[in-house]
Amino acid sequence: MISVSGPSSFDPADLGQCISCGFCLPACPTYRLTGDEAASPRGRIALMRAVDSGEVDVFDAAAREQGSFCLGCRACEPVCPADVPYGRLLERLRDAQWTGRRRPLRIRPLLAFAARTWLVRIAGVLRRAAPATAATARPDADRLLLGCFERVLYPAVSRAAVATLDGIEVPADQGCCGALHAHNGDSAAGEEMARRFAGGGGRVVSTAGGCSAHLASVVGRDRVLDYAELVLERAVGLHPITVGGRRARIGLQDSCHLRNGLGVHTQPRAVLAVLGDLVEVPGAADCCGAAGTYAILRGRDSRRVLAPKIAALAALDLDVLAVVNPGCQRQLAGAVRRAGLPIRVLHLAQLVELSRARRGETAPVRRGAVT
Ligand code: SF4
Ligand code: SF4
Repeated sequence: MISVSGPSSFDPADLGQCISCGFCLPACPTYRLTGDEAASPRGRIALMRAVDSGEVDVFDAAAREQGSFCLGCRACEPVCPADVPYGRLLERLRDAQWTGRRRPLRIRPLLAFAARTWLVRIAGVLRRAAPATAATARPDADRLLLGCFERVLYPAVSRAAVATLDGIEVPADQGCCGALHAHNGDSAAGEEMARRFAGGGGRVVSTAGGCSAHLASVVGRDRVLDYAELVLERAVGLHPITVGGRRARIGLQDSCHLRNGLGVHTQPRAVLAVLGDLVEVPGAADCCGAAGTYAILRGRDSRRVLAPKIAALAALDLDVLAVVNPGCQRQLAGAVRRAGLPIRVLHLAQLVELSRARRGETAPVRRGAVT
């Protein structure tokens, strides 16, 4: 058994599911970077089995390195013929490794912030994220998740979501959904926070892929909707965005958890295809290296994962790169700026808002500016 007992233990059924076929290896960014079996999903599952049986100590240096080097992108899941829930296994490993004094110092302030609902709410008010709606909410209403990271860094995204989804409700008392905790060694707290937010009826609407996948894993897929799914479901009126009289050329960076965890990737593309000329970015489904706290904890590896993406973007004549997760927005906006690329990085909700605000007119997208 793993050396930490209780809710952090591996589920034997999850561990036993892997048939060691190796189909996941080519999909794994850390395996592609290193060619090292130990840095592949199959290698890490073998390591988890060794930890579980007591052959390897969970705090062994090589075990800690692999628990941290993995991006948690879950690209290994959709290609797995045995449906191994790799993301859940990684959460259990980190529950055991990133506990108490062993939790990485650099992420402790983030987790402490996200755990305090009052603090997250004040930050949202100061940053002018979408304000709460009246407390007369219908129990079955769709409710917008403001998130923690997104509320602080990209408050314009929740404002755009409210502006484009008529009647969406914004609960006043919401904090963080718990994804940050679940992915960083405290899945029990992450589950508790998700249940607290999604308690009651109605669906939770999220503009952050990582939050959507975490909430769905706790409260059920039928209770969680990504922003793009609701735009399509409601048939929100969309209008082309133009640049200098021509349709804008728009690419998309997938959110790993949205794509690999919830299977949502055609929906944002369907929306973008109306907003402009959709350009498929080579490697759009691959992780950008943000990966939650990965860019903070492993900056050098994060940049190695990011590098081919920036090369791919430089070879395209894009006006806008759309994103569907705040971590990707921060990572790519910074990278595009540093590379001097004339591409604007915007969340899908911001593009829909722009499209609706300029309906019927030519609406130039300012190039070279980064939001
Ligand atoms: S995780 Fe899935 S794809 Fe990878 S080796 Fe195991 S069974 Fe095969
Ligand atoms: S989560 Fe991503 S980095 Fe980790 S093993 Fe799976 S594919 Fe590789």
